[in-house]
Amino acid sequence: MKSWTCIENCGACCKFNLNERSDLDDILNKEDIALINSMTAKDGWCKNLDRENKKCLIYESRPHFCRVNEFSKTFKEYLKSGDKFLIDCCKQHIRSIYGYKSKEMKTFKMVISGK
Ligand code: SF4
Ligand code: SF4
Repeated sequence: MKSWTCIENCGACCKFNLNERSDLDDILNKEDIALINSMTAKDGWCKNLDRENKKCLIYESRPHFCRVNEFSKTFKEYLKSGDKFLIDCCKQHIRSIYGYKSKEMKTFKMVISGK
């Protein structure tokens, strides 16, 4: 079974549109939403992302909702499907930001396959 892992130079999940994330309604509290709004640039990208290198500039102190290993446990789909849920989420983010045939998608698929 494939294991989830985050890949370097991706950042596809660092662009927010809370209007399209009704799945987070019961998970994020008011403080989280205020923090996300304060972190989000007008074009939706997180202000803490080094866009050129696609690296988080506050990685060690990033908010709890950016810590996939911990945050995923708050989703019932994760408790049911485990890493498959995380893999599908990453693919969805990568597809919508970079496209299905992007180098990010190829790298992600390669890394989770362990090739
Ligand atoms: S979309 Fe997935 S692989 Fe890409 S940065 Fe986010 S967690 Fe990592
Ligand atoms: S704080 Fe870091 S990990 Fe979280 S969305 Fe912003 S750039 Fe991405």
